[in-house]
Parts: sequence; C-alpha cells; structure tokens
Amino acid sequence: MLISVAIPKPIRNTFTYEALPGVHINLGSRVSVPFGNQTLIGIVVKKEANNERTLKRIRRINSVLDSRGDMPIDILNLCLWAADYYHHPIGDVFTNALPALLRAQETKTNLFVEKKLRLTSLGFELNQSTKKLSPKKKMLFRLIQEEEKTKEALFKSGIKPYLIRIFLNEGWAYWQTTRKKAEVKTSKLNISYGDLILNSDQKKVVAELSDRDENRPFLLQGITGSGKTEIYLRAIEPHLNLGRQALILVPEIGLTPQMVSRFEDRFCTRVAIINSSLTDKQRAQAWIDAKEGQSGIILGTRSAIFTPLKNLGIIIVDEEHDLSFKQQEGFRYSARDLAIYRSHIERIPIILGSATPSLESLFNAKRGRYKKLSLNSRPTESHPETYRVIDTSQFATREGLTQFALRSIQKTLNSGKQALVFVNQRGFCPILLCEECKQIATCDRCQVKLTYHQTTQVLSCHHCGRLKSYPAPCDNCGSSRWIHLGVGTERLEKFLSESFPKEEILRIDRDSMKGKNSMRMAIDRIKEDKPRILIGTQILAKGHHFPNITLVIIVNVDAGFYSADFRALERLGQTILQVGGRAGRGTHAGEVLIQTQFGNQETLQKLIKTGYQKFAEHLLNERADAFLPPVRYEVAIHSESPEQNLAIDFLQNIKRNIPKSKDLSLAGPLPAIIEKKNNRFRQKLILISKEREPLHKKLSEIERFIAKSKLPRGLKWSIDVDPLNMV
Ligand code: ADP
Ligand code: ZN
Ligand code: ZN
Repeated sequence: MLISVAIPKPIRNTFTYEALPGVHINLGSRVSVPFGNQTLIGIVVKKEANNERTLKRIRRINSVLDSRGDMPIDILNLCLWAADYYHHPIGDVFTNALPALLRAQETKTNLFVEKKLRLTSLGFELNQSTKKLSPKKKMLFRLIQEEEKTKEALFKSGIKPYLIRIFLNEGWAYWQTTRKKAEVKTSKLNISYGDLILNSDQKKVVAELSDRDENRPFLLQGITGSGKTEIYLRAIEPHLNLGRQALILVPEIGLTPQMVSRFEDRFCTRVAIINSSLTDKQRAQAWIDAKEGQSGIILGTRSAIFTPLKNLGIIIVDEEHDLSFKQQEGFRYSARDLAIYRSHIERIPIILGSATPSLESLFNAKRGRYKKLSLNSRPTESHPETYRVIDTSQFATREGLTQFALRSIQKTLNSGKQALVFVNQRGFCPILLCEECKQIATCDRCQVKLTYHQTTQVLSCHHCGRLKSYPAPCDNCGSSRWIHLGVGTERLEKFLSESFPKEEILRIDRDSMKGKNSMRMAIDRIKEDKPRILIGTQILAKGHHFPNITLVIIVNVDAGFYSADFRALERLGQTILQVGGRAGRGTHAGEVLIQTQFGNQETLQKLIKTGYQKFAEHLLNERADAFLPPVRYEVAIHSESPEQNLAIDFLQNIKRNIPKSKDLSLAGPLPAIIEKKNNRFRQKLILISKEREPLHKKLSEIERFIAKSKLPRGLKWSIDVDPLNMV
C-alpha cells in the first residue's frame, strides 16, 4: 500500500511512501519516515493500493506510532480544509494542530502508559499482620491495598515522596506499568443555580438556542455584564448531560482563573485548559484526554480549536471580536472562522458571543447567515454606565490628564469607590524628542519610535524587542537631553501617586505583571478594595468583574481617528465599550470619561449616544461605500527582504505575470504600515473581490507562479487570507 504523508516542514505538497506490510495504518496515523537523511514524524493524509507499479524511488516508512496519538478524521479534515483555505503548507498546519510531543519520536516520554504503586506480597503480609506501623505508613497501606495508585493521586492524598521511597526500598511495594485506560465519563449532572433566576432577555435567548430547526451559527450580542457567560453555561448543560463535550474558546488574556472556576463550580467537573502556558507534556495529555472523552469541558485559547473531541456537542467562542483569535504570523488562521467550519462539518451548534461583535460577524447576521441573539440589560444593576467626552482641544492636560478627570478621581475616592485609568500604552512615554536637534529616537532596525521605560531605565522597541539603556545619545547629534512626549502607564502611575500621595495605586500592564501569579494576586487585591486607583492597559479591560469601580477614564484615544488602518475605528469603539464596561457593574451608576481631541467626531458621538449597534451599522455603511471588508473579501500577499527593492520587485512581478480579471481588484505593492522591521523591508499586495471564489483561484495561480520562479536570497513571502491587521 502507498500512503501520502504530510511532513512537518513548510512544504506545500505531501510525499508518497510505502506502508509496512501487515501493519495497520489509518488516515491521521503518525508515521516515522525517512526524509533526506533525517527521520521525521509525519501524518498520513491519503492511502491507496499499490497496484504493482512499484516505483523504485518510493521509500518505505520506518514505523507507525501509537494509534492513541492518531489525529482523528474530523481534525484531519479540518486541517486539510484550513491548508486549502489559507493557502498554507499542510505540514505546517499539522505542526500548529498537533502537540509537540505527539510530533516527536516516542522514546523520550511515553504518554500512553502510567506507573502505579502496588503492594508486593511482602507488603501485603505486613499489612495483614498485627505489627505496629506509624499512622503515615498505615495510611499509605490503606490507600494502595485495594487499588494501585499513581504518584499524582498519592501526592493529592498527602503522601510525601520519602514515604513512597521507604515502601520501595523495603520491598513492600513496586511501580507497576500499565497501559492507561481510556475511561469515558458520562455522569448525569446535579446542577444547582443557587438563587440565580434568568431575566426575561436571558430566558428568551435560552429558548431561541434550543430551537431545533435552527442550524445557523448563533451570534450572541450582549453588553458587558449582561449575563452571556450564564447563557454559555445553560447552553452547555444539556450536552454534558448527554455525555457530550463542550469546546470553549476565549481570547488569550480572557482565560482567567475566574472564568475556569465558573465552569468548574457549576458542573462540578474537571475543566481541561489549553493555552500557551502549558508544558509540552501537559498539552499532549490534555489533547489525549479530550480525544478519549475524559474531559467534559475544554477551555482554551486559539490553538485549542484543533483539539480532538470524542463526542463534541457544542462550540462557544467568547469575545469573538478579539484579535488574538487570528494568528498573525506563520499559519495565519482565524480560530473563530475555523470554529464555524468545524461546527458545520460536525453538525453541532456554535455560539459566538461578544458585547462588541466584529463587523464581520454582524454583517453575517445581517445577511442571514448567522442567527442574532441579544441581551440588552444587566441583570444585577439598574443604571448602565454613562459615557462622556472631554475634548482635549478645549481643556489642557497635565501628564495626560485633564483637571476634570483629576477632580472626578477625587470624588470617586471620597465616595469610597475605585477609579480605573486606561491607557493603551505601556512604559513611561512613547516619544522621545531630542532637545537639541528635535529628532525622535527610533529603532534603527525598525524605523519606529522607541518607548521610554522609566522603571527599568531602558528604551524599548515594541516591535522587535530591542533594548537600549537610557539615556542614550541622540543618533543624529549625540546630545543626551530628551523631551518626554506622550503618556504611558508608568507616567500616569508617577503623576497619580504625586497627586494622591495617600492612596495605594496599582499599575497593571505586561511589564508589571510578568510574574506567574502576579495577575491573580492583583485581581484579588482589587476585589479586596485595597488599591483605589488602578492604571491599566488592555489586559485589565477584559472579562474581569470589579464591582467597586465606578469611574473609568480613557486617556487619549486620538490615534484611533487618524490611523492608516481602516479597522482602527472599529477597534476603538470595541475598546471604549469593553473598558467602559468595567464601570458600574455593581449597584452604583458608573461613569466613563473619554479624553480626546476628536470629541465631536460623528462616529464617536454615535457610539456613546446610540450604542454599539448603531455605531457598527454606520461603520458597515462606510465599508460598503469604500468596497472594503467585510462587504468585500480580502487577501494580502506579504513580502519582506533586507533590500527594499527586492521586496517590491517580487510583488511587482506577480502583478505583471498574473492575468487581470474583472471580478478582482489589485492594490500595491504598498509599504506595510511598519515598513521596516528587524532590518527587513516589508511590502504587500492586496487582492479584493466581491466573492471568495475568484480570490482563491487567483491565489492558486499565484502560488504556482511563485513555485516556478527563482526567489532572490533572503526574500520571504506569505499569504494572509482575511487579514485583520494591517501590518
Ligand atoms: P457577561 O459574560 O455578559 O459579562 P456574566 O454572565 O459574567 O456576564 O454576568 C455578570 C454577572 O451577573 C455575574 O456575576 C453573573 O453571575 C450575574 N448574573 C448573570 N445572570 C444573572 C441573573 N439572571 N440574575 C442575577 N445575576 C446574574
Ligand atoms: Zn525594533
Ligand atoms: Zn539630537
């Protein structure tokens, strides 16, 4: 038999091998194969009979790996579809989809066996005899006399490693290696809602979700705090009761311990977590557990969409508008969009939830592809927060804050509440201007501004990560006297602690939250009401429920109004409402102050006066007028090279050699928004069409053209289907 194998390399085609006679092989099996002079683990994507045309050059595989690590057919199909849709090398798709340990030779760790401590006959006799034993020893005897136990289970019962060593040394017990059993849990749940009663909006949504004639994806739009998570819990429950599993995708920073415990508490079940902080072993274990049906709920970030599930019942994508669902480099897939496809092929329901849905999803709801559900009020409060713009072209700011904002903070503190100051910039200030020659400090590798970090006394490039110690001399004139322009979290922290010397202030950004538990500890402190002034970036803006915050100040959102990215306003609206939603989630009315020079801007006024829906409709109309996504489909081809003209020529060549078609428009080559990054020049070619079909056809043509061309050294290219970031 011949098999086609996808190799874990950025190669677009698969390779044919001969299978081992008599050894069973599945689609999705992992096989060890010779590749050049390497040995690699590949995935079987096709099988065909070897009808006697045995070609000499076909090599035989080395071995077939443990079938419990096989990729199930659903996931195999999802990967094949994704490789096709995103025009990405299939081998690299599998690299993203399969945990690293399952892509490795099995010698290092064996995931499929476990060691359990078991009594020897000597131990058995001793246990039966009347001999006096210490309570600790008795306890260990009792634990393992009926059933052997794993090390983890023993540790959980309070057994210390030294005690196990004694048992082994005395010959009372030994480690028995067994093949792990795949036990499937299908327990009937015993749910308690406490005194929580759904409000009328929620009841309506739950009823709509259980409509059996509805097979479209659901888009659940509900303001922050309106009880979306409660809806997810209700939607999942019947599936768990039937022994089916739920897959819940959350944004990278949305996966908080609070989120996890809400699911654990409700269903008294183990929730498997899949995110980037897992070790390779934990990740592989979570994958296998899910595949074998041992975890009822899988809660994970982007890559969790590839988790195999024995009996998947429902998929939920929380905060579906969040950018982190789209991988921005390498295999540029959207986990949300793959989730939609997966629900379609597995014929199961899917809920996309958000307070501020993406224009893509709203557009899909508008044209009837998704079924829209809404939650319009918060069950726990009577006053939604109010939004107010402070026009900074009229009122002066000091260190980024207006007098009005400072007075509002004071008032909030006087009434015993907490205030949150949001600024989407970490560090002290984003711009350093040379006092002598008026040149701005930039990264010489990226041509972008350097950010000054006062706490660590460095200048940092937020694009390539390069650090310079401060004060560095000006590249242009050598002076070391800098003017600090703009406001970051550190600067606000300094200013606010001078203005409110008696108050505890907490800064929450990526720099201050580096420690493993720092975020959890910070959240606990906020809930205990210890810091009364909070300063934070995006990472504080999502998912958290802080009932005592009644004032949110959003500092300087001006960049959203003049960005070259046509999605900037959509993002800005989402950020304002997500951050603003932190105010007034308790029983007191919250207030949100937005400081900007663009206070009279029409779209901003729409947002704060009429809400997200009207704001989004307005933006959708603008996109339609400008022939932009989501009303049109878009693909970007990126090129980058140490030499600018090579990056341009590459795209120019594509444009020249690919015949024009009327159902498709082409723009570029254009410089990327960050034109130079890490000493490489970046260019892009944009393809836009009313339909997907012509775009994909054209991309295939382009791929063939590139495959035939000789690329200059150092040139890299990539395709981004449905790009979200104008990079
Ligand atoms: P969202 O996910 O939309 O932000 P949550 O589901 O987290 O909203 O709900 C916000 C808060 O309101 C939570 O503390 C939740 O327990 C509570 N809650 C949700 N639904 C109800 C309800 N019907 N009655 C009372 N409290 C509710
Ligand atoms: Zn840089
Ligand atoms: Zn200078």
